[in-house]
Amino acid sequence: MSLESLYQKTILEYAGMKQHNRKLEVVSNMERGHNPSCGDDLTLLMNVKDGMVEDISFLGKGCAISTASTNMMIEAVKGKKVEDAQRTVKAFFDMMAGKELSNEEIDAIGDAEILEFTSGMPARIKCATLSWHSLDVIVNHKK
Ligand code: ZN
Repeated sequence: MSLESLYQKTILEYAGMKQHNRKLEVVSNMERGHNPSCGDDLTLLMNVKDGMVEDISFLGKGCAISTASTNMMIEAVKGKKVEDAQRTVKAFFDMMAGKELSNEEIDAIGDAEILEFTSGMPARIKCATLSWHSLDVIVNHKK
């Protein structure tokens, strides 16, 4: 299998995940990500309790890359400490900026590592980073 078809297979698997596309009973933080050039409109919902990402989900619709990226991100931070989510979001943006990651950082971002292939594709990078910007706003209190 070529690297490109492996990327495609993984993106489609994550884009097809349904369990994180749902409402949350209790929401402490919410952030909408909107990418008009593609039509992605994904709102990240989170419940932070005792310094932990106790629950996290998203609502809305997006293309395969933005939806897959959101599911990868949720899998990477759900149940973790907020400070670990802060490290994870930083590692993700460092990777997209072309920086080398430590093994620990690669472990933290999980399967989202494959999204690095979009960093050289200006039309796709916004899709891949959309929900990560929303996560960044929430965990780093950027508002
Ligand atoms: Zn998109």
